[in-house]
Amino acid sequence: MKADYLFDGYKMQREGVLICTQNGIIDTIAGEDQAGGDVEKYSGVLCPGFINCHCHLELSHLKDLIPEKQGLVNFVLSVVNIRHVSEESKQNAIHNAESEMLKNGIVAVGDICNTADSRFLKSAKRLNYYNLIEVLGWSPGQANSRFESAKKTASQFVESGTDEKYLSLNPHAPYSVSEELWNLMKPGFKGKTITIHNQESNAENEFFMDANGDLNRMYSLMKIDSSHFKAPGRRSLPYFLPKLKSASRILLVHNTYTNEEDLIEAGGFNNNLVFCFCPNANIYIENQLPDIPLFLKHKARIVLGTDSLASNHQLSILEEMKTIKKAFPKTPSSEMLLWATSNGAFALSLEENLGDFGKGKMPGIVLIENTKAGELTEASTSRRLI
Ligand SMILES: [Zn+2]
Repeated sequence: MKADYLFDGYKMQREGVLICTQNGIIDTIAGEDQAGGDVEKYSGVLCPGFINCHCHLELSHLKDLIPEKQGLVNFVLSVVNIRHVSEESKQNAIHNAESEMLKNGIVAVGDICNTADSRFLKSAKRLNYYNLIEVLGWSPGQANSRFESAKKTASQFVESGTDEKYLSLNPHAPYSVSEELWNLMKPGFKGKTITIHNQESNAENEFFMDANGDLNRMYSLMKIDSSHFKAPGRRSLPYFLPKLKSASRILLVHNTYTNEEDLIEAGGFNNNLVFCFCPNANIYIENQLPDIPLFLKHKARIVLGTDSLASNHQLSILEEMKTIKKAFPKTPSSEMLLWATSNGAFALSLEENLGDFGKGKMPGIVLIENTKAGELTEASTSRRLI
């Protein structure tokens, strides 16, 4: 098959016919003269299936329930106070969310799990998943019980057919994991993709600088004791990053309030460090985007995520790229496609089979329509061909 442009997972090609089997196993990218007569032709850009590096499928039933642009602390308080919903409507919402991702060309998901609610859906294996079991507990006295309960959630996934290779226990955020809990978790990081919500609000940086700011309001409203905390007097990222050093991939999510000083410090740290942007969720919650050109300047490895339907109107990697293009028009579409495909596969340790059109891989084949000279436009749409 052929389109106006072909993005192979790394770069945009003007020429080239993608040769694959009927079920999508890639053979090669050939010249038009070598491809034979029956080439299917499309208008737009062909690319490998998208990798969504950050989602919370289990929150899908919260779609359209949480007010927008209230800031992270009010968002968290809204999620905590939401009314109970039936198991059936939760499962339906999870199923519909997965179907939406499938339709939009997403082939793999880094999915945050606080519960095992999504395990039945995932056992059908319609998409590839890295199950990122989330652990949180700010009170040091809770460290053991929180850690044990996360291990129980993990074993529920394994019992339902999840491959342990694609499952890990992850700290939720630097402000929600006590030192005691970090210490229980650290030995499990080795060889895994480990993720953490990073600098999603400025309150997080303030909290680590001098134990002040909006996170204190959150803890007092939630009646969580924070008296054990002694601020390290540094911004959040340089404080917690060394704790993750044994992970095989470190996936930092949001990075909305990450600055140049943070990036310089992180740059010398580890080339398995990956920054995940979820721009539509950032607009929904904080109405603030990360300084994406700054990350490009520092040659950071970038990936994309949708976050959950609690903080997004859709689960579409293309819509995330369109939002970035609108806010930072100079960002080349080929750069964003790299984030959405091969970089994403690397972050989730799925590069053996996904993320690029390498021979023998089965990455899914996506068509992006309504593009202009290989660049995304506001009218662009994506769909899975195979
Ligand atoms: Zn999240």
